[in-house]
Amino acid sequence: MPPAAFRPPNRILMGPGPSDVPRRVRDALSRRTIGHLDPEFVSFMDAIKFLLQRAFVCEHAMTMPVSGPGTAGMEACVVNLLEPGDTIIVCRNGVFGGRIAQMAARCGARVVTVDDAWGRAVTPEKVEAALKAAPEAKVLAFVQAETSTGALSCAQTLGRLARQYECLSLVDAVTSLGGSELRVGAWELDAVYGGTQKCLSAPPGLAPVTFSERAVEAVRARSAPVQSWFMDVGLVMGYWGSASKRSYHHTAPINALYGLHEALLMLEEEGLESTWDRHRRNHKALRAGLEVLGLRMIVPRSERLPQLNAVRVPKGVDEARVRRRVLAEHNLEIGAGLGDLAGKIWRIGLMGYSSRRENILTCLSALASALVAENMRVSSKEAVMAAMRILEE
Ligand code: PLP
Repeated sequence: MPPAAFRPPNRILMGPGPSDVPRRVRDALSRRTIGHLDPEFVSFMDAIKFLLQRAFVCEHAMTMPVSGPGTAGMEACVVNLLEPGDTIIVCRNGVFGGRIAQMAARCGARVVTVDDAWGRAVTPEKVEAALKAAPEAKVLAFVQAETSTGALSCAQTLGRLARQYECLSLVDAVTSLGGSELRVGAWELDAVYGGTQKCLSAPPGLAPVTFSERAVEAVRARSAPVQSWFMDVGLVMGYWGSASKRSYHHTAPINALYGLHEALLMLEEEGLESTWDRHRRNHKALRAGLEVLGLRMIVPRSERLPQLNAVRVPKGVDEARVRRRVLAEHNLEIGAGLGDLAGKIWRIGLMGYSSRRENILTCLSALASALVAENMRVSSKEAVMAAMRILEE
């Protein structure tokens, strides 16, 4: 085959991420590349830091986008806070808590896990018991929005427990940043990382990270240097710190930062609280339509994550065939289950720019026709009407 430009198909992204990237952000990505130490770029970096503080709702000086995907943000938090021999308590209720535990073990930390069933939020009582049993613990880590299962844990309560037991909190906010209530400053969270490809609707590849003063102090007090040169926040801050003394650390992904900046401007324009409300309302509308189609969520109502709907596959329905059909016939991507939930659930994302009325209605009709092809007796019209009733409330 002769070489040719890649022209991606026109998909609607309603899986676990990435989400649809709006035209404005795509336009920003294609702006002219300038040098990353250009004085104009240096002040632009400050603008990004400011908007990230607003998105995290904190004033932490150490707030910046790590050059790498959400996992790089996770790694930046884990490797900076932990030294060999430290104890970390990791809450595991899905894939990503498990990933934090693995990273912590590679840092030589003693890892205590607090397990909850996949599809449930983290149980604060279990966490408190673990904190009591391991008073030497330095860090309490948890995932606020578990994308693998659609469960939302109470970051405020878990952050308070960390404080009470003199631990640093390490929070995965990859799917919650810009989608669910998150107040890093008021909730006194210590090391928090997000992702760009979920509710911010910028392309994947950057990880907003923020460290409280307490977390920065803990890094300063380390006896061993951070084992990762690239992730060492002391060095990275020489680059992302004050504009007056910025020095080369690595070459920032300049155009990706244009995209993130535009996405953050869109968040500002909508308003953070309105964005959280939109995610909640659209989730209610989708759920109403799914229920009419006879589909059920796996997460109990009070623990559900609005931007990730984990839906049980009905008996007799071929999970993968339905996903293939909605992609082929409607250009609509929905996600499969991971781990033990593979083949048992669909993960329907309503994240960022993907969380909008027309997507909900398209998704309900696409699923209805795929389910009819699987011999289910369902009505697309009734499902769409149930969603519309909520959207028009
Ligand atoms: N944490 C959560 C909750 C996620 O959903 C994801 C990605 O889906 C990650 C971490 C890892 O992010 P990335 O795939 O960008 O490395």
